[in-house]
Amino acid sequence: MAFVASLTETEIKDFFTTARWNSTEKQGCPHCGAFEAHYERRVRRRTSRRPASSSNRSPQWMCKACFEVFSVTSGTLFHQTQLPLRKLLLAIVLTLGAANGMSNVTLSSHLGVTPKTAFLLQHRLREAMADDGPVGKFSGIVQMDGGYFAGKPYKPNRKMRVSKEQLQRRWGKKPMGESETPWRAMGMTRKNYLKRTNKRTVLVVAHSDGPVGTGAKQVAVAISQGEHESAIRHLAETFVEPGALIMTDEAGAYTCLAAHWEHASVSHATEFSNADGVNDNHCEAFFSRMRRAEYGIFHGYRPLYLHLYAWEAAWRHNHRRVTKRAQVERLLAKCLSMGPSVRFRGYHAGKGVRKETLI
Ligand SMILES: [Zn+2]
Repeated sequence: MAFVASLTETEIKDFFTTARWNSTEKQGCPHCGAFEAHYERRVRRRTSRRPASSSNRSPQWMCKACFEVFSVTSGTLFHQTQLPLRKLLLAIVLTLGAANGMSNVTLSSHLGVTPKTAFLLQHRLREAMADDGPVGKFSGIVQMDGGYFAGKPYKPNRKMRVSKEQLQRRWGKKPMGESETPWRAMGMTRKNYLKRTNKRTVLVVAHSDGPVGTGAKQVAVAISQGEHESAIRHLAETFVEPGALIMTDEAGAYTCLAAHWEHASVSHATEFSNADGVNDNHCEAFFSRMRRAEYGIFHGYRPLYLHLYAWEAAWRHNHRRVTKRAQVERLLAKCLSMGPSVRFRGYHAGKGVRKETLI
């Protein structure tokens, strides 16, 4: 934070132009593609009352070839943003500086913007992280597992006595009674019964081929409703080389992997790692961090945005070995090389996210 505060306006501009065009002298016109030192436009004051130094507008250029005007954020993930470059950079630095993520309200108080602005800004950063997943497929040893997120039940106001039968119905091991309401049959409040429909599975595939004790090299994630064979197979086909060894827990759906990959499982009922070293502890470690963020930082995930939160956790994991500065530069370069946000463009005009991203 102090690092951003100490930068001058020119240094911030150079930081952005280097991230986008790899040059502080020349710019690439997003309209016609001409790459040269274009005419720099004088930054005008937005209102006559405001001093020129506190102008919000980011620097602009006029193209020498097509005479269109553009800025360093034109046509990128931050297209048409009203925020000054300093706040954009500060948002990235603060978000990546927090161990498990940063809530919208915290970020909004640091930046001096509304929580909704912080919400949109952070979700755009998560979009960039989701687009910056692992390149190529995982080979050697791979671990896979599913964790349940969102739809966390409330603690009921009144102590409820839950019978064994009600619990069996709750876990799907006993059919429902006919005349009963489902939440009573399961010994739950109606509110919690409805909340359970928000529960989703985060499937994670971890590349665990490195030396012992160094954690997973890279992880990739996907969201599904339950641990289904089709979702598991699809994820494995996307991220795992044929012939790799996939280690999972004893859940039945993973047995389908044996057709194309070597499959080994560990029974979590008795052990976390068996005598042959089969375990999925790298996946459990990933879930642990995501769970801490769910309970401690965000206070709950919504199914609509869950895949973005999952990819944020995955990106943090995949880039945990590089310095914060390298992380900031990488994420900023990614944001400036993407097109305008697909999900959050026109959010205030009612065009926000409508559909959740399921595998
Ligand atoms: Zn041009």
